[in-house]
Order: sequence, then C-alpha cells, then structure tokens
Amino acid sequence: MRLTESVIREMSREAAKYNAVNLGQGFPDFAAPYAVKEKAIEAIAADHNQYAITWGVKSFRDAIAEKTKRFLGLDVDPESEITVTCGSTEGMIAGMLACIDEGEEVVLFEPFYENYAPDVILSDAKPVHVPLYQTAAGDWYFERDELRAAFNERTKAIIICTPNNPTGKVFTLDEMEFIADLCKEFDALVFTDEIYEHIIYRGRRDDGQMTMATNNPKHVCMAQIDGMQERTIVVNSLSKTYSVTGWRVGYCIAPPEITNAIRKVHDFLTVGAANPLQHAGAFALSLPDKYYNALQKEYQLKRDFIVPVLQDAGFRCGAPEGAYYVMTDISGFGFENDIEFTKYMIREIGVAVVPGSSFYHDKSLGSQKVRFCFCKKDETLQAAAERLEKLKKG
Ligand code: GLN
Repeated sequence: MRLTESVIREMSREAAKYNAVNLGQGFPDFAAPYAVKEKAIEAIAADHNQYAITWGVKSFRDAIAEKTKRFLGLDVDPESEITVTCGSTEGMIAGMLACIDEGEEVVLFEPFYENYAPDVILSDAKPVHVPLYQTAAGDWYFERDELRAAFNERTKAIIICTPNNPTGKVFTLDEMEFIADLCKEFDALVFTDEIYEHIIYRGRRDDGQMTMATNNPKHVCMAQIDGMQERTIVVNSLSKTYSVTGWRVGYCIAPPEITNAIRKVHDFLTVGAANPLQHAGAFALSLPDKYYNALQKEYQLKRDFIVPVLQDAGFRCGAPEGAYYVMTDISGFGFENDIEFTKYMIREIGVAVVPGSSFYHDKSLGSQKVRFCFCKKDETLQAAAERLEKLKKG
C-alpha cells in the first residue's frame, strides 16, 4: 500500500480522546444556515429519496451554472459541463482518474492539502512538488523558474487550491496568468479546488500585521483567464460556503469532453451524491449577496481574533489572506518535531492542531510547523485562547 492514513482525520479522533479543543480538522462547530437545513428536510419529506440522475439533480446543476455566472462571469452548460459529486474530495479524484494516464506527471504546490498527492498516486501518475516559500512577514510565494522547471512533456496537469489550504495564500492574477501560460505551453490541464472562494480577508499589511484597509486579495478562478476554461476542471462544494461538510455534496465544472469522462468515473465510483441534499443545495446556491457578505464578516472577526492570540502564545505566523487556517512556525518552542509538539498540544495544552509534516511530501520540511483552523464558534476560539496561555508559562 503506497498510501498512509489521513493525519487530519486522525487528529479529530485524538482530540476527542483527550477532550482537546479541536482546531485541527477544518469543519465548523456552529450551526448550518437554518433555511438551508429546512430545504433538506422538505426534500426528504417530498420523497426525493431515491437515486438522482447520476451526474446531478437538474435544479442543482442549473443553480451551479447560475452561481458560476453570477460570481465568476462564466457561461457553463448544466447539461454537458457539470458533474455533481460526493464532496470536492470525490470531484478531485474522479477528475484525475478521468483525465490522467499512467506515468504522467501532476504538478502541485507544497505544502498541499493532504488528499492531492494520494489522488495523483491513485491515478497511477507521479506528483511533482513545487515549494511555496514564506517571507519574514508570512506571505507565501513560489519561484517562477522552479515552477517552469517542474513542467515537461509528461506533465498532464497542475493542481491549484486558492484560497489555499493550508497556507491561506490567495494566488494573484499575475501568478495565475504565469501558471496559465505554462499550461498552454505544455498542453496541461488545471485542477482548481475552489472550496474557499468566499472566505477571503481584508486588511493586511506587507509585514503580515493586520490593518483595516490595505491589501484586499481577490479570488481569481483559473477558468476566468483567457483560453483557460477549455483546460480547467473547477472543483467546488457546499461544504465550506454553507457550513455543511458532512453533507458530502460537491461538483466539477469542466468542458463537455472532460465532463463526459468524469461522469463515467463518478458513476462507477459512487453512482451519485445524496438526492435530497442536492435539492437543498439548489436553494443554498441561490442565496442573496447578503449571505456571502455575512459569512465573510464572521470569518474576518475570527481571523482577526485568532492570529494575535497565536502570535502572542509564541507561534510565528502571518495573517492568512483566505480560507480558514493559519500555518504556523513552532521553532520557538524547542520541540524535536511537529508530531511531538502536536502530542504535547493535545495532551498537555488541550488544543488539537494538525502537524505540518502532513502537508509535505518531504516530512522534514514541515517538522517545525503546525496548522490551526479557526472555523469555530467564538466560545471555542476563546477556550482555545485560554488554554494557549499555558504555553507562555511552560
Ligand atoms: N479540508 C478540511 C481540512 O483540511 C477537512 C478535510 C477532511 O478531513 N475532509 O482540515
């Protein structure tokens, strides 16, 4: 077996075992929007309880097309360019199995969300890692010559996640255009994980400190870039935007020929995503702008609360531009590695985190890092902050 167990999921089990505040696995501990839940209940009562069309309930695909037009300005045909999947997790692996052949290469930035490399391996392809570096202020960037050197005639695709898990980086238009040009030059596809598209922060200075007005990152989807929609597989889901990670409803948007292949893989993998939850999803996707603005404001407050708490407790980190994680440097604490530190955090401090090495193929690169998530109730974050005080005394 070439795969290891998910460390992120393991940390949730450890957190429960030691009664630690769980800032490890990224899922909200607050309620999903009432109106969305109500639609799911109604859909079950209305007996949408059998298999849906394998590639998705029509009203949900129509809503995906409408939302994509509304937020990204892209025309997408719900009949031939959308596949509903069991979360973005299935979307990503179904997309890769459909498009990638044995022996091909897939480029991914490192640190990366831990499913991507196994997805590539399950597709019989080879992951090629390109490092993201961090400035002293906490900003993440890549070296353009290193990215170019990762591409060759065997390169089939690159995986992008923006806003990024685990770094919080929001790729700039300029960076995306550079990546797009490489993909055109080497005839490569882009798999883009967009699940944090609505979770973006305002106000961050160049030195990583937070302010009220500067540096307002903007989400750019690769498919928006000239000539890229035809070579981009957009992977998205309801999980993060509507706080329903347990529903497992996601989707892929891709050109018709690729969609055709994805639908076949998807059908044999899972047959389909939960029918009633897709009906509720159609409603969720049509929520007015005020929903998305409120979500942004909520997360902004959480980020602005947690980052100074972490810095104060001795973690080196900048403020993330998007998503709901803070990747921190733990070298100030003098632990041998991230695994030892994480154990100490869960058992002695009472706060669960994810060890940094789980986001790297070369484990030593993450050995002085841990990731916090902050998609939690204010009281959960407050409880974590109180427990982190113990680190200062240690
Ligand atoms: N995306 C979330 C994280 O990175 C949860 C992943 C998962 O366990 N499915 O923590």
